[in-house]
Amino acid sequence: MSFVIINKPAHSTNRWSRNGQSIEYIVMHYVGAVSTARNNGDYFANNANLGASAHYFVDETTVVGSVPLEESAGHCGVDYSGGRAPFWGKCRNKNSIGIELCCKKDSMGNWYIEPETVDNAVRLVKMLMSRYGIDAAHVVRHYDVCWKVCPWPWVNDENQWRAFQQRLEETKTEPKWYEKSGEWAEAKRLGVTDGTRPDEPCTRAEAAAMILRARKLGDAS
Ligand SMILES: [Zn+2]
Repeated sequence: MSFVIINKPAHSTNRWSRNGQSIEYIVMHYVGAVSTARNNGDYFANNANLGASAHYFVDETTVVGSVPLEESAGHCGVDYSGGRAPFWGKCRNKNSIGIELCCKKDSMGNWYIEPETVDNAVRLVKMLMSRYGIDAAHVVRHYDVCWKVCPWPWVNDENQWRAFQQRLEETKTEPKWYEKSGEWAEAKRLGVTDGTRPDEPCTRAEAAAMILRARKLGDAS
């Protein structure tokens, strides 16, 4: 799991001063159009007076830094909730980092975010959380700030948002049980598994192949 960070500074008219305010929140968005992180970075670098912007654009392979973190981006400054959204008035453009997730549309016309994009967002957000001392409770959706339906897939399906939040709480230094026991490494060495995707479920075909390999090992000994 890795990504490339590219800096494409946003046009000077698409970024503003933080007026001395420190960074307290991270706000998650989705782009709402099929495009890559580079497409978006180029657009905000090359076009003036867009009236909106973000600090980062994330896709399956790339993170583009657009508005520099020491400056404010225009990503959560409009209220759609009549002041009732839980973070309205607390989380503002001046005290937050805005992150835009690139998205795709399925055959039913529903927006979705590729798992690799979510992985990259987890990594980026964790990096920023540790740099600015921000806890997971201060990582919010655009929706939580002003009721804008953004990121659409995470408002439409709250479980996806909760799963993302949970991943932010996980400490990545904690070794997994199968690493501690050494069984995964041993299974790989013996050829029972190819050693990829240790946390993913296996299909019936994969399970059958692994059982067969283990049986052959038993027969050979
Ligand atoms: Zn948004």
